[in-house]
Amino acid sequence: MRRRIYLDYNATTPVAPEVLEAMLPFLRDRFGNASSVHWEGQVAKRAVDDAREAVAAFLGVEPREIVFTSGGTEADNLAVQGIARQYAWRGRHVLVSAIEHPAVLEAAKALRHEGFDVETIPVTADGVVDLDRFREMLRPDTILVSVMAANNETGVIQPVEAIGAVCREREIYFHVDAVQAVGKIPVETRRWGCDLLSLSAHKIYGPKGVGALYVRQGVDLTPILYGGFQERGRRSGTENVPGIVGLGAACRYIAERWMAEADRLARLRDRWEAELRREWPDVWVHGQKAPRVPNTSMFSLPGADGEALLIRLDLEGVAVSTGSACSSGRLEPSHVLQAMGVPSEVVRGSLRVSLGWDTTWDDLAALLAVLREAVGAVGR
Ligand code: PLP
Repeated sequence: MRRRIYLDYNATTPVAPEVLEAMLPFLRDRFGNASSVHWEGQVAKRAVDDAREAVAAFLGVEPREIVFTSGGTEADNLAVQGIARQYAWRGRHVLVSAIEHPAVLEAAKALRHEGFDVETIPVTADGVVDLDRFREMLRPDTILVSVMAANNETGVIQPVEAIGAVCREREIYFHVDAVQAVGKIPVETRRWGCDLLSLSAHKIYGPKGVGALYVRQGVDLTPILYGGFQERGRRSGTENVPGIVGLGAACRYIAERWMAEADRLARLRDRWEAELRREWPDVWVHGQKAPRVPNTSMFSLPGADGEALLIRLDLEGVAVSTGSACSSGRLEPSHVLQAMGVPSEVVRGSLRVSLGWDTTWDDLAALLAVLREAVGAVGR
């Protein structure tokens, strides 16, 4: 069988060998429950504490400010719903950007049933949150703003530091979904001025089903899960010790590697987009005028059918995406491109290529050849 080419690292990444090595003992003999008093339990607890320190060091925050969760989705839900419910007495107005991941958008939507007024902040044609509109939308009863650090589909980096400054001035809680920023740009939790920040292990060469929420000291949250009071009551449930160890190891791994990778991937991505333009002069590269994370290239061939191209590429051994990982499988057009005002026939022809640790120019050259063939076969 021909070697497959994986170009969908924003959907998920493989587990790095050093991450797997760190996890294995906790899937074998070090199986204790981190809440148990005995020796086995304490071994597990120490491992969880070490991982908490690694995540905190990576984010430049204190270990006690880290809450482990079952992933980015739970971290986002805990942040949005936990803050809204805790501080409903101060106001019921919540702002989320139009290009948030469904984990934020749907969590916020669910709040509407509880009487919250949830509004979405528009983005510019380049996919950047519109700061002027954001300022205009603020109200005296706004309690929470949630804006992602980098978008999963376009890779566009959002002005979180500017938003954080406004929120701080007006004493509004600010949540940043950093799931797609971590490992791609420096995550400057304190400088961004956020009160909460989500991350997920499986986007940074860690295991699936584990993530973390940074909760600034002094910020209270109403939990979304009740039970045994783990994570100081903020997230009950027996700790996923191997997963948490994996998340800690992934943070260490990415901290050592990301700078070198970022430069390498940015060069590859730029060369890829130059080739794309040469081949199809009418190609749209989404967010090309905005700052973007180095590994992501989302483009459209107007008139083409992105889904048909994706299937064709897959049959030829190349894995890409049409947009948000979590919405692939559903044939709904990208809400991100729609929010950017991209015409529907262009949205339909979109594909996302996201590069990772083992991507080389040969992979992208192969993609180009297969894409050329696929466009020829499927048409536009
Ligand atoms: N937030 C963003 C920006 C994402 O890209 C994703 C996953 O694609 C999530 C949240 C959800 O994270 P998880 O898959 O760990 O639940």
